[in-house]
Amino acid sequence: MPDLNDRYDVIVIGGGNAALCAALSARESGASVLVLERAPEAGRGGNSRFTAGAMRVVYDGVADIRRLIPDLTDDEVANTDFGTYTSDQFFDDMGRITQYRANPDLCELLVTRSRDTLLWMRDKGIRFHPIYGRQAFKVDGKFKFWGGLTVEAWGGGPGLVDGLHQAAAGLGISIAYDAPARALLHDDRGVHGVRARLAGKTVDIKAKSVVIASGGFESNAAWRTRYLGPGWDLAKVRGTSFNTGDGIRMALDVGAQPYGNWSGCHAVGWDRNAPEFGDLDVGDAFQKHSYPFSIMVNARGERFVDEGADFRNYTYAKYGRVILEQPQQFAWQVFDAKVLHLLRGEYRIKRVTKARADTLDELAAKLDDVDKEQFLKTVAAYNAAVRQDVAFNPNVKDGKCTVGLALPKSNWANTIDQPPFEAYAVTCGITFTFGGLRIDTSARVIDTEGQVIPGLFAAGELVGGLFYFNYPGGTGLTSGSVFGRIAGASAGPAARA
Ligand SMILES: Cc1cc2nc3c(=O)[nH]c(=O)nc-3n(C[C@H](O)[C@H](O)[C@H](O)COP(=O)(O)OP(=O)(O)OC[C@H]3O[C@@H](n4cnc5c(N)ncnc54)[C@H](O)[C@@H]3O)c2cc1C
Repeated sequence: MPDLNDRYDVIVIGGGNAALCAALSARESGASVLVLERAPEAGRGGNSRFTAGAMRVVYDGVADIRRLIPDLTDDEVANTDFGTYTSDQFFDDMGRITQYRANPDLCELLVTRSRDTLLWMRDKGIRFHPIYGRQAFKVDGKFKFWGGLTVEAWGGGPGLVDGLHQAAAGLGISIAYDAPARALLHDDRGVHGVRARLAGKTVDIKAKSVVIASGGFESNAAWRTRYLGPGWDLAKVRGTSFNTGDGIRMALDVGAQPYGNWSGCHAVGWDRNAPEFGDLDVGDAFQKHSYPFSIMVNARGERFVDEGADFRNYTYAKYGRVILEQPQQFAWQVFDAKVLHLLRGEYRIKRVTKARADTLDELAAKLDDVDKEQFLKTVAAYNAAVRQDVAFNPNVKDGKCTVGLALPKSNWANTIDQPPFEAYAVTCGITFTFGGLRIDTSARVIDTEGQVIPGLFAAGELVGGLFYFNYPGGTGLTSGSVFGRIAGASAGPAARA
């Protein structure tokens, strides 16, 4: 337990990626830093710990990948088409995916600071590697990356969080666990510290700057229902149980301005029988992200969404909502033998809700809660509509689509006719909420009058204004790192001024 008689320049609320990047960057500026993590040490790291560590970053070619991953081998370079992910591509994705609502100033920082921020993390000891298992398929002997998502932290989310903690320990950053922040100490001159509960006692800890990085409100069933809408209390939470919107509430209490897509969130297809909150032993593996190679059917036995509308990482974050809207909030993803070898590792975990059969009739009987007759009709109509004259290629949007269905499948439409058949039951798993606080380009929190709240900074999930309706995969961690680093770089010098 840190000595609270010590005076800290900066208090960081939260213990995930955004918080630790803020702490490291504030410490770099010479500030003394205390991190308040609500979780016990064994459960530290927030949603960041549950991730695969995938991070969306600008790179202009393999030379940039090599700078990020110095131990990339010549063989890997020779056998991989990394392509590029230029700032233009990242801007285009953010614009298209958010229907051009993303705040341009925040978006510009996210995109243009992504590369140097990951290099900064590398310098702090975080190692990266290419996401061969999830973002590239081997076609004609060569891996090709798709979807603008190419690197992940070594050891995934747990590796990332451990690496950031090691760096924090090396720099003498103090961390208190089981330390929920409850309120901001505030007067007309701004924020001067935090009221927190430490070792069962409520204490006021003074500091010159406070960074809030305590996540969104995804783990708060009442807020989900209030802001996302009816039915959201029924979603499962993919990650930590600790992100209940505390930081947002504390900031609103001192006049911060709510900002961004408060009715929006990131939510995916998640095992129908997964627990209420994430399980660190399973990590992100309750997700079932190979649906572009499936058809998804609901309780009525009907398809309800274009499974192949785009690459997985441009549709997965909005399809959780679509699944939640189905009767009984579930769907089955159905595959046949032609694509089983393409299923991601998460389909082979022990805790999976799965049916397998050698005929479609037998499979229909095994799909719990589904109208069997309609399911068989749906498959027959779908099979008849698949274009046979277009070749299947998982690495590109192949245009192998259906023709004549009211609800098309636009890419990767293979017939479902070759046994064995497999099906996986999913419901809606919420990842994080999009609405939050308004910050400026120095990560200073803005109040309802449009003025900076002196001494208050924010980063991570609770920053509003970046994501609307949807989200390009791998951007949450990058956003936390970019804005965490900026928040720390602003909070540290402000505290020492
Ligand atoms: C299963 C899963 C997989 C994901 N995969 C990816 C991926 O591969 N790539 C990607 O970019 N994003 C991914 N995401 C999204 C990503 O996790 C988040 O966008 C990102 O981690 C948010 O970082 P953060 O630091 O803002 O929040 P978090 O990492 O959630 O940290 C919030 C912290 O605040 C603490 N806290 C909460 N309330 C208080 C309080 N009152 N006082 C003190 N501390 C408090 C929590 O304990 C936690 O430590 C995934 C999310 C999940 C759940």
